[in-house]
Amino acid sequence: MSSPRLATRLQGIAPTIFSEMSALAVRTGSVNLGQGFPDEDGPPAVIAEAVRALEHGANQYAPGPGVPALRHAVARHQQRHYGIEVDPDRQVVVTTGCTEAVASALLGLVDPGDEVVVLEPYYDSYVAMIQMAGGVRRPVTLRAPDFRLDVDELRAAVTPRTRFVLLNTPHNPTGTVLTRTELQAVADLAVEHDLVVITDEVYEHLTYDVEHVPIATLPGMAERTLTLSSAGKSYSFTGWKVGWATGPAELVAAVLAAKQWLTFTSGSPLQPAVAVALDEEPDFPARLCASLRERRDLLLDGLHAAGLAAYVPQGTYFATASVRELGWADGMAFCRALPERAGVVAIPSQVFYDDQADGAGGRDLVRFAFCKARGVLDEGVARLGKADLSA
Ligand SMILES: *Cc1c(COP(=O)(O)O)cnc(C)c1O
Repeated sequence: MSSPRLATRLQGIAPTIFSEMSALAVRTGSVNLGQGFPDEDGPPAVIAEAVRALEHGANQYAPGPGVPALRHAVARHQQRHYGIEVDPDRQVVVTTGCTEAVASALLGLVDPGDEVVVLEPYYDSYVAMIQMAGGVRRPVTLRAPDFRLDVDELRAAVTPRTRFVLLNTPHNPTGTVLTRTELQAVADLAVEHDLVVITDEVYEHLTYDVEHVPIATLPGMAERTLTLSSAGKSYSFTGWKVGWATGPAELVAAVLAAKQWLTFTSGSPLQPAVAVALDEEPDFPARLCASLRERRDLLLDGLHAAGLAAYVPQGTYFATASVRELGWADGMAFCRALPERAGVVAIPSQVFYDDQADGAGGRDLVRFAFCKARGVLDEGVARLGKADLSA
């Protein structure tokens, strides 16, 4: 579908699946368990702070690195939750969501031909941004049923051209939360081969019964880790697109060097509100997490009852199920049929894999979001239970 006018750096990157599936949801009146955004907004006090900021002059360009109040609040957040010390002036930069943090990190650090080891299935912007930076992705696949990191496969992915590991933990779409042991294997490899680790931790507060370990806290890793996060998932403000990168001053400076030519800055009234969220609503993410855990279990029960073999996610907004036991080999075909069959929309996980051929990694997997309101999930599960889902 590549247009002859499209720049080479964007060719071969499929359009995001969410447009197709969300349009399908609207057209068929389906319950949309596809895209990962919550139905309920974050803390009212934080919204009130954004309104106050709008009314009191926070309407012009914010400083490129972010408003000082937010940079300081991010530094306190890293200290409070993980004991990580960062200098708010040199080691924190505010970005337009974690998406821009990923883009700026890759554009600011990766040279053409550099290899980036990255967990597959991918969060879709990674593929696009590694390619736009001229880098080469070297996938390490997390495989069903438990989606653990295969340390031998990780080692085998590193070559003399490898310069980066791009991690995502808690991991979208599988829900895997990397263990301290797995992270230590990544850290050992990074030290041995002098690699920089870029880690996307947007679901840092959304783990169920397991601990999230930032790789920056492992010995020797603070000086080679760029940590990315955002208020979107932790505070249910996905539309605000306020994110940040923290780490060694030279890595943060590289993010800023690229970021200044992308948006330069954004979200002037939202940045001080997110500072208030981090400082004054530090328990909101834990409450959200407890509620998400209940909704996860509700969805998992519903998927099992509908004959879908669902894996139990340790974190994130998402549960993954195989459609093989219902007789389907192809999750894409299943997801295209599901709105008609059941009035529910889900996302075929194969779009997050390089190899989408028959029998390959995520061919039979489907992702369902459980970050939806209780009533929406109840309705989705009820519809799945009534429908004939067999191939
Ligand atoms: C949602 C998400 C992002 C994007 O974060 P924004 O702050 O909305 O830009 C990045 N990475 C992962 C893994 C996500 O799920």
